[in-house]
Amino acid sequence: MKLKQLCVVACLLLTTAGAGHAAQSCRSAGVWLQVLGSGGPELTDGRASSGYLVWQDGRARILVDMGPGSMLRYEQSGARIGDLDVVLLTHLHVDHSADLPALIKAAFFTDRTRDLPVYGPTGNALMPDTAAFVRSLFADPSGAYRYLGGYLTGDEAFRLLPHNVSAMGTAVQSVVAWQGVKLTATAVHHGPIPALAWRVDIAGHALAFSGDMNGDNHTLPKLAAGVDVLVAHHAIPQDAEGVERNLHMPPSVIGEIAAEAKVKQVVLSHRMQRTLGRETESKREIRKRYAGPLAFAEDGQCFRVPMR
Ligand SMILES: [Zn+2]
Repeated sequence: MKLKQLCVVACLLLTTAGAGHAAQSCRSAGVWLQVLGSGGPELTDGRASSGYLVWQDGRARILVDMGPGSMLRYEQSGARIGDLDVVLLTHLHVDHSADLPALIKAAFFTDRTRDLPVYGPTGNALMPDTAAFVRSLFADPSGAYRYLGGYLTGDEAFRLLPHNVSAMGTAVQSVVAWQGVKLTATAVHHGPIPALAWRVDIAGHALAFSGDMNGDNHTLPKLAAGVDVLVAHHAIPQDAEGVERNLHMPPSVIGEIAAEAKVKQVVLSHRMQRTLGRETESKREIRKRYAGPLAFAEDGQCFRVPMR
């Protein structure tokens, strides 16, 4: 067998084994973070856009963001739609929200009967609030997918229940708690876009999700204090300026936040062309401030919470 053929076979085996292992471990006992989408909005990064699952004892209970491609990763993860307790949206940019209709349509083919709450930010002149966003998709007669309007009216097997969470101010907000889970949110600065960071406390462990943000209003350290895992969006390199820097945090800010919050592990996601290939440089900036475990996310990857 020629070298090239050998490589193709070996690479296929590695990919298959890797994906299988990831899915299997996420479904193990304990709490797990699974990265569904580790990319940004580009269609050239080989990654799904933002999406994360929090698994507990074999059930994927919490979905955070659902950008394009994340629902294919959801399918590959083996997660059951009936197990999902809640959907959290950090903000309503396309690369964080566009797969919501895909999830709802897919749910039609399952035995789900429990209502599905969706929590996301309030709106402003640029963005609808989360409830208005959901209505703009599904409400009959005005929604783009009004043929699915029964998921708002109760005429389908379950209802979609959208809730707005304030994307103003600097307070850490207790949003909801149930069955060993507590959800907390705070507004973060993502340029002019209303945006939230989320914290999930589950079974004695804690995870935080920065969403897209640039660090300007300094709210994330308080929300993420002491968490086992901080998923930080690494969308720009250290030397970014202008619009990019108004929307996103550079590696130095990720390091500062991780250190101040004393997080136990950082997972870097929302990776884009402008940061791919510059991992050493990004890591160096973060390492000047934060010494704990640090990982660059890949689609499908699972992280035990806490790490063992
Ligand atoms: Zn965004």
